[in-house]
Amino acid sequence: MRERAPYAVSETNSKGRRQTEPPPQARSEFQRDRDRIVHSTAFRRLEYKTQVFVNHEGDLFRTRLTHSIEVAQLARTIARALDLNDDLTEAIALAHDLGHTPFGHAGQDALNACMCAFGGFEHNLQSLRTVDRLEERYAAFDGLNLMFETREGILKHCSPDNARHLDILGRRFLDNQRPSLEAQICNLADEVAYNNHDIDDGLRSGLIQIEQLDEVDLFARHAAQARAEYPLLGGRRLIHETIRRMIGAQVSDLLTASRRRIADAAPKTLRDIHHAQTLIGFSPAMAAENRQLKNFLHENLYRHYEVVRMTNKARRVIDELFQTFMNDIRLLPPQYQQMAQGESDDPLIPDARARSVADYIAGMTDRYAMKEHRRLFAIGEI
Ligand code: MG
Repeated sequence: MRERAPYAVSETNSKGRRQTEPPPQARSEFQRDRDRIVHSTAFRRLEYKTQVFVNHEGDLFRTRLTHSIEVAQLARTIARALDLNDDLTEAIALAHDLGHTPFGHAGQDALNACMCAFGGFEHNLQSLRTVDRLEERYAAFDGLNLMFETREGILKHCSPDNARHLDILGRRFLDNQRPSLEAQICNLADEVAYNNHDIDDGLRSGLIQIEQLDEVDLFARHAAQARAEYPLLGGRRLIHETIRRMIGAQVSDLLTASRRRIADAAPKTLRDIHHAQTLIGFSPAMAAENRQLKNFLHENLYRHYEVVRMTNKARRVIDELFQTFMNDIRLLPPQYQQMAQGESDDPLIPDARARSVADYIAGMTDRYAMKEHRRLFAIGEI
């Protein structure tokens, strides 16, 4: 194995697990985290959760599961190239979307609106809650008892108000410190993955046309190069060849720009990383092209009327489920009823009923949410 950089996260400089455990035998602590995530229930649910398209719309679109695997692949490559902890990077990437509601961002927005009077709903916090509390797989503790740095990477954003309730994990948001480079890599790998696969899925669905992408410099440039080298290339192969080149260009730009920033900051320890500026990122030119790509997707795909119709319906499903359960907790499965009647274990959401309903809804897959909605509202199936 290549030697890792002195400022990479390691078992030696790690803040460890909340509950002490015997060390693993044939793998590192961070490999153990990765394995725990892969074996979790929440991870398997990602297969049936939407990225942009609702799960049943087509067999070839990305789901949160394939998205997470793509993020992990990109992140691991980047971490290894920068001599960082690729096991940690992979663990964070595979866990980064575990707290997502059904129906993608529409679901998150809807649940957040429902939870507004109770402290809100934020998928980053829910991902953390999933690995810290909700998973029930181990006799000795709730959750997965992950390493501090894996949890730190999962909690990408946090408001100062929420951070105050979050022990040492929240401190960096109050002290304006950066997370590990491994966590920073996952944030960027997430962007590279979804911007590129949403172009692919958008074209596949027919909601966007290849001609529209002339206005996106990153796509236009690589499509032109591919056509120049392979004049007969067209159709899906041209799209795939172009996207492959876009990802390659973004990753190599990211590596060059990040290496330069790391060299300038000259960190010696992990502590130096926490006190430096964000060091993982694109060059200014690539950052501008990336913004252009994102803007294109916002205007042409995420706001496409067919996507808006779908997200509007999804919002109604979440909203109606929430109101119905809040009005009558006897409709909840017994485990959630019990939670709703007890005391909340979450300082951010002190209302046990809201906490329990939000946990139940956030854990649903797209199709489970639709089925629950039918079971509760479709007359004729009493
Ligand atoms: Mg993601």
